Amino acid sequence: AKSNGRGQYSFYDAQTDESLQSRRAMIRDLRDALKTDGLSLNFQPLFDADGTTLTGYEALARWTHPRHGAVSPMVFIPLAEEAGLIEELGAWVLNRACLEAVTWPATVDLSVNLSAAQFRGDLVGTVKGCLATSGLPASRLHLEITESLLINNTDAVLRTLHGLTGLGVRIAMDDFGTGYSSLAYLWRFPFDKLKIDRAFTQNLEQDPKVDLIVKSIISLAHSMGIRVNAEGVETPQQLARLQSHGCDELQGYLLGRPSAANLLDHAHARHDAQ
Ligand code: C2E
Ligand code: CA
Ligand code: CA
Ligand code: CA
Repeated sequence: AKSNGRGQYSFYDAQTDESLQSRRAMIRDLRDALKTDGLSLNFQPLFDADGTTLTGYEALARWTHPRHGAVSPMVFIPLAEEAGLIEELGAWVLNRACLEAVTWPATVDLSVNLSAAQFRGDLVGTVKGCLATSGLPASRLHLEITESLLINNTDAVLRTLHGLTGLGVRIAMDDFGTGYSSLAYLWRFPFDKLKIDRAFTQNLEQDPKVDLIVKSIISLAHSMGIRVNAEGVETPQQLARLQSHGCDELQGYLLGRPSAANLLDHAHARHDAQ
């Protein structure tokens, strides 16, 4: 069984679960799932500013628990981090996603989420291995990181980021605007893309201040040569605002929901070579 890909997860929530034993059991089950190919990936389409040209897909991890049903990645990713399983899980996601992406048209890129904890291992080696095994050109791989990684902004993290760009992959800052000193990170590292968090997109219409913030973020990013993606586009009104602000890439339920690899429709991929 697979997740329905509509963000409807089971009631299981580690946060509200008093039983440590059950938490341990979930970790054991997650470890099993990793061993037995019990995880899967969904892919959500990303579109050009026109809202119709397919530019890529974001890989999103899915876990259907044998008894609890679909568990949200907001639950099992932190669980994997806590249990020391995130390196293995992260490498599985990267491998799986790259093998899938080589079957897509050459103009369609792949975005993969990275957990800060993956930066403790040999991330450059892992990414290099996935590219070699799959044959996916590095330039088609976008790695999404969050600001939390840069909070303890160590030289080691920056070295790893430079190691990754050295391979030719692209780096995107995810959930932009939700962390602390977001702007400070823009000059510390040359990001290729910035993803405006869904919370902004969803308040565009109701709050003129949010509209102004989004407009300013886009113009600031552009002045630094950084492309901008807006997440969580759910209404035609949000789409129109983002387009008028010059947003480069759009993502959200209005344009396409995450779905299983075998259901993807590449019909609107760009035909010309890049
Ligand atoms: P994210 O990276 O910000 O991913 C976008 C999330 O927003 C996804 O939730 C997606 O299904 C959802 N989404 C997309 N468009 C819309 C929309 O229009 N409206 C609404 N309400 N939601 C939308 P999902 O798949 O549940 O993933 C949640 C988070 O879990 C991700 O947030 C990411 O932080 C994490 N995650 C998922 N897969 C992985 C993975 O392979 N590795 C790591 N490290 N984290 C992952
Ligand atoms: Ca993401
Ligand atoms: Ca995000
Ligand atoms: Ca997020």
